Amino acid sequence: MHDTITIAHGLASFDVTQEPKTVLSAGGQKMTLTCGRISGELQRICPKCGHPMDIHQEHEIILKHVPLQMRPHLLKVSRKRVRCRGCGYLQMQEIPFQDAQHRKTKHLRYLVEKRLSEGHTLKAVSRELGVHPSIVKMVDKERLKRMFPAKRPHKYSEYIAIDEFLLHRGHRYATVVLDLQEEHVIWCSEGKKKQQVSDFIGDLGEDWMHHVKAVSMDMNAQYDSAFRELCPWIAVIYDAFQETDPRSLFRGLRQWLRMASDSGVQEVLDFAKTIRKRIRSLVLHAVYPINSGKLEGTNNLIKTIRRQSYGFRDTEYFFLKIMEASRKPYYRYQSHRILS
Ligand SMILES: [Zn+2]
Repeated sequence: MHDTITIAHGLASFDVTQEPKTVLSAGGQKMTLTCGRISGELQRICPKCGHPMDIHQEHEIILKHVPLQMRPHLLKVSRKRVRCRGCGYLQMQEIPFQDAQHRKTKHLRYLVEKRLSEGHTLKAVSRELGVHPSIVKMVDKERLKRMFPAKRPHKYSEYIAIDEFLLHRGHRYATVVLDLQEEHVIWCSEGKKKQQVSDFIGDLGEDWMHHVKAVSMDMNAQYDSAFRELCPWIAVIYDAFQETDPRSLFRGLRQWLRMASDSGVQEVLDFAKTIRKRIRSLVLHAVYPINSGKLEGTNNLIKTIRRQSYGFRDTEYFFLKIMEASRKPYYRYQSHRILS
């Protein structure tokens, strides 16, 4: 009977000593409590002096585990402390399934991380797994930091976009940089001035920046002058307006248009008319495959994340959430809350 329960918990080194029972939390919520002890051999020889060690005390600790039948689940884990006969060295029996932080099991942390990576909100994960939102948030932040350890992306990008967005309610702004080829966010920082462009270039390094051909932006004098000064080889494109005169590059096309007008053939005239109307965007698209749609999409995504959060006072966490969300296609099609 006990073996079956042990296996059901997925904890190989936990011997259940009492069948699970229902207890009430301080808030009156029904929870399951399972008592058991750590199995496995105890350290019997002192690692310091080599003398025998005896069982000295027994301690209990309560850990939060993965829910059992939709209910929060607690484990009361009993473990022993041994003491050296020779030097008095004390050693506590380790709990192999205990997470490094907070009183919870590793299994619970994995489940929290899994739900978060699936796109569930902090609130939804907290409710489902019976874990306090602040702990869910901490787990999430650690998970994201592991995902984005370095500021430099793995790939080079020829086309990037830069924009500003509102950080908190009030008047604090941040800068976001997108890789337009991969279509995701590669960099975020507080502020919307020249300094942010300079920091971005510093973080990504000269080699990375030398692969960039064009940067798209809304009219922002600070961003503009920073790029011109620090990376003069990068073409600055205002939204869908490019500084290079496209006429010089597309003389051939103009010549064709003239010939088309002279032809007098109605079908050719109609086609030439369409080309003329859209010449600027056609040329821009041909020279730089850039459009402002991706930037707008990112702004919507940032708004969505802000709505899902509790305000995101933690700016670093907010940026990490943006980095992750921009890599998930479903965020782009969600306007409000998702999966909660
Ligand atoms: Zn000893």
